[in-house]
Amino acid sequence: MDSLKVIVSKFGGSSMKNAEAITRSAQIAADHKSSIVVVSATYGTTNQLIQLAEVAKQDDWSLSERIIESIKENHRQIASDLKAEEADLEALETLLGELETLAKGIHLLKDAPAKVMDRLQSLGERLSSPLMTVALRSLQDKPTENFDVRQVLRTDDQFGKAVPQIEEISNLCQNHLLAAKYGNQTFVTQGFVGATADGETTTLGRGGSDYSAALLAEGLGADLLEIWTDVAGIATTDPRLCPAARPIGEITFQEAAELAVFGAKILHPSCVLPAQRGLIPIRLKNTMDPSAGGTLISSDDSKAEITAIAAKDGITAIKVKSGRMLMAYGFLKKIFEIFERYETSIDMITTSEVAVSLTIDDASRLPDILEDL
Ligand code: ASP
Ligand code: MG
Repeated sequence: MDSLKVIVSKFGGSSMKNAEAITRSAQIAADHKSSIVVVSATYGTTNQLIQLAEVAKQDDWSLSERIIESIKENHRQIASDLKAEEADLEALETLLGELETLAKGIHLLKDAPAKVMDRLQSLGERLSSPLMTVALRSLQDKPTENFDVRQVLRTDDQFGKAVPQIEEISNLCQNHLLAAKYGNQTFVTQGFVGATADGETTTLGRGGSDYSAALLAEGLGADLLEIWTDVAGIATTDPRLCPAARPIGEITFQEAAELAVFGAKILHPSCVLPAQRGLIPIRLKNTMDPSAGGTLISSDDSKAEITAIAAKDGITAIKVKSGRMLMAYGFLKKIFEIFERYETSIDMITTSEVAVSLTIDDASRLPDILEDL
């Protein structure tokens, strides 16, 4: 047996679009001997679920029915294309039944509180992971299990943007997923979804599957985190603005986190931290071109060169100029306190003896901030 490498592989929505895409992704997971396969909902399903919650509040139930039918049809079609067995089809119908029941509940109450939204949105990933399991099972001899991530991905109860409980996740991963670590089993599981200590379903916020994969990699002490998407890696700059942009071969955790915040859409910013804490390199790869190198994110900072340029629209720049700043102390503190008061995060800052320039992304409290400044 070759040396055991514990690999967590995450496949995004476009890599889970239909039976063909799922099979392609499953083949990659089998070839790479992934221990944990984390999946997003099938392409577009999370948006459909959110839309469903909206229309279910309206009087006309037929609008909801149309979305429910579309989700059902989509997943049944994939299951049939993948030649799922009877037991898999039954499990699928149970989940689709839960979807309909939840939508009816929302319709009846004309309300979809955050807790219910999380339960509803979790169905995207809870529906897609059994499909990936079916595909992967047929491609490898190893036992391949669809694993309910709520057993290990412990969060607090901020529904819609739940905060993962790192230590508990580690303990739970060590308890439940050791068979993956020792190479004799593959677990396919859901990104984006978690659960509170009371077992209530939560979600980590839109695009959260990358974060889930990183948390599981950290919890298990994986050797590598692979993120499979439909682009060739992090680009040197925004390819839509600059056609000469090309994929970056290697980049540090810090640079990747910065780029994820400032423009690169390929990676969820919060996914870098768990990998960095666990010293687990992240490889960003393209499902459509698995042999291409992609981008490797690691702690190796031996290359002292400019790696990338990010571009971001719609930011607000604020320039504070004051003679009172000259030779003074505590001036910056007073400025920053105002931003803290209005819960506004500052992204960039430059300062000289008489001026401070800074940028913010969220300008919703700008009038209050300016008033206090
Ligand atoms: N399915 C979720 C979303 O669309 C999470 C993810 O794909 O990362 O936001
Ligand atoms: Mg994503």
